[in-house]
Amino acid sequence: MTERLETESRKLLSRLQATLAEAGAGQERLDRITHLIADSMGTHVCSIYLFRDADTLELCATEGLNPEAVHQTRMRVGEGLVGRVARSKRALNTADAPNTQGFRYMPETGEEVFSSFLGVPIQRLGEMLGVLVVQSRDKREYSADEVYALEVVAMVVAEMKELGAFTGEGAALAAPHKNPVMIKGTVAQEGVAMGHAYLHEPRVVVTRLVADDTEAEIAKLREVVDKLRVSVDEMLDTAQGQDKEQLQILEAYRMFANSRGWMRRMEESISSGLSAEAAVEKEQSAARARLEQVPDPYLRERLHDLDDLSNRLLRMLTGQGSETGAEIPPSPILVARNIGPGELLEYGRSLKGIILEEGSVGSHAAVVARALAIPLIVHAKRITTDALNGDLVLVDGEQGIVHLRPDDTVQAHFSDKMAMQAKAQERYASLRDKPAETLCGNVVSLQMNAGLMADLPSLPTSGAEGVGLFRTELQFLTRSKVPRRSELATVYARVLDAAEGLRVVFRTLDIGSDKVLPYMKPQDEPNPALGWRAIRVGLDKPGVMRMQLQALIRGANGRPLTVMFPFVAQLDEFTRARDALLREMDREAALGRVLPETLEIGAMLETPSLAFSPNAFFEMADFISIGGNDLKQFFFAADRENERVRRRYDTLNVSFLSFLELIVSRCRDVGTPLSFCGEDAGRPIEALCFAAMGLRTLSMRPASIGPVKHLLRRSDLREVRAVISEARATGVMTVRPAVMEWLRHQT
Ligand code: PEP
Ligand code: MG
Repeated sequence: MTERLETESRKLLSRLQATLAEAGAGQERLDRITHLIADSMGTHVCSIYLFRDADTLELCATEGLNPEAVHQTRMRVGEGLVGRVARSKRALNTADAPNTQGFRYMPETGEEVFSSFLGVPIQRLGEMLGVLVVQSRDKREYSADEVYALEVVAMVVAEMKELGAFTGEGAALAAPHKNPVMIKGTVAQEGVAMGHAYLHEPRVVVTRLVADDTEAEIAKLREVVDKLRVSVDEMLDTAQGQDKEQLQILEAYRMFANSRGWMRRMEESISSGLSAEAAVEKEQSAARARLEQVPDPYLRERLHDLDDLSNRLLRMLTGQGSETGAEIPPSPILVARNIGPGELLEYGRSLKGIILEEGSVGSHAAVVARALAIPLIVHAKRITTDALNGDLVLVDGEQGIVHLRPDDTVQAHFSDKMAMQAKAQERYASLRDKPAETLCGNVVSLQMNAGLMADLPSLPTSGAEGVGLFRTELQFLTRSKVPRRSELATVYARVLDAAEGLRVVFRTLDIGSDKVLPYMKPQDEPNPALGWRAIRVGLDKPGVMRMQLQALIRGANGRPLTVMFPFVAQLDEFTRARDALLREMDREAALGRVLPETLEIGAMLETPSLAFSPNAFFEMADFISIGGNDLKQFFFAADRENERVRRRYDTLNVSFLSFLELIVSRCRDVGTPLSFCGEDAGRPIEALCFAAMGLRTLSMRPASIGPVKHLLRRSDLREVRAVISEARATGVMTVRPAVMEWLRHQT
């Protein structure tokens, strides 16, 4: 940038800064700002357009256009040149506005006489707040330096808007972070919650945007970037030999930290009058805007890396650690871009809900949230930008909707919904000690799924008759190395203590696919869900499996022990795993240890192939449990992690029900107990249909036991079976509508 422009820019920034300090209403400030910018840049027009709502921009102040148009002229995102800037989040610079694609003539503004147009986004950290425009009569394109200078100014305007400097008149001028926001995400754990936002990593707040001493600021930036480079190099040194992905991230960090373009742009921003931290933030904003438009997942990851790096730099520059000392608000709803399972466990049950900007349904965080029964929404776009610590948040884990700072009507509606659910829970509590006995006299055993010690208190309160699935992954996932045998034995013993004699089905380690251990070398597999996972890993690398089996035997310490192997696809996998367990029993006996009083060895039926295995399998297994989550994904060839397809096929699809019927009959033929422990078992209508198909044991989240029991107790399975058969006879794809219709007539 030329020196003259830099000096001008610095002068303008300090004058803008001064208007912030002056008393006055928002509109006066806006008017003054447009005047100052037009004057300083030597343009005929300067206008500020701000968002009135998510899609509409409104002309809020102008120097040079018809003043009558202020608060009258509006356009939608994408409409006209201003709308184009808002959509692309990029500067638009043209010498001949009327003949530029997208131009829309707005007669009330009187802008037809202005030929040149330069619009830049008013944004902070990728959040669009409005558009800043300068126009001139002469046909000229603004220089790159002028574009840059206007972007710097726009950043200060954004900051003023964030600080609420323009509030006071009209909804369009309301300060951000005050308006209600609704975000649609994806449900990773059902449930509803009302509470206050608690940011896992509060964003760094840059309050000092403008600085006078350019040289001192540049020196400060260089010093901190140098420190950053050293720390990245150190991280790389210590990470050598570690997993490939971590190294890749660090390499990307190093590349950015050493990028000359990045450094040059930040130094230029400082020369135009910004402080060092504001210069970093300006780059970060631009990167975030790019991020939203990059479809390639690899590039998106790299841009995220740059975002992380900018955050580090901001923390170093401002001295704000990730620990800002912000107190955890009452009824905290955790808000984060992503979170690891260990960190989530540290928060534990104190959380009322969790909202992640990224995350995935099968992430470790989701596994933990599920175990803790905390409603979790993932893919909540922009939540970390929109939420502030303490904001009121409603988490609707049924619809996958987050209401941030909801208005009174939404809040009242939501409170009613929660009250109704609480009432229903009370009703369910009264059924706690009653059996899930249907009107036709069939008793269904309802059990609970668990994965943590912390789950066990739900055993007596939920009315579950036992733990039908204890997922043992979490003890592995939340540690930095393989847990020791003695540690595991202690955990298993405590689980059995807490179960007070009720049966607990321990499922051996199910890792691979979505559940990757932090200390396990990631396998570069094209289809991890079909890859090296669960029992396949256990049989190929028997060390860990043996250790776990020993820990289970020792944990049982003379009590009954029930072990279940996951993801068995064919008979020999089961026989080999079973033999391994029996061998460990012999070894433990030889060591003089107490053996379990009884031992049951079962298998999860999660692959269609197992349903067609030889009779020997059904005879050998002491029990079989259908892992519906996996079984369904393989039956329909629809990835349970893939939002596009995961809900596409109904569990009550007649093909799937026929398949379940086949499994029920194969088990019945040889008298092998069968249960169902996937998520569907906890959905009342699904549970009812499963019971009608002959399943007599269902294992589910503790919170689902009440609703499932309630429905079962009111139903006659013979009638449900008849409804299903009739529906099937008509050739429908799914029996759901017929069952729903029947249910409607029951009440
Ligand atoms: C299942 O697949 O249904 C199951 C219970 O196992 P997980 O969800 O842990 O894969
Ligand atoms: Mg499974």
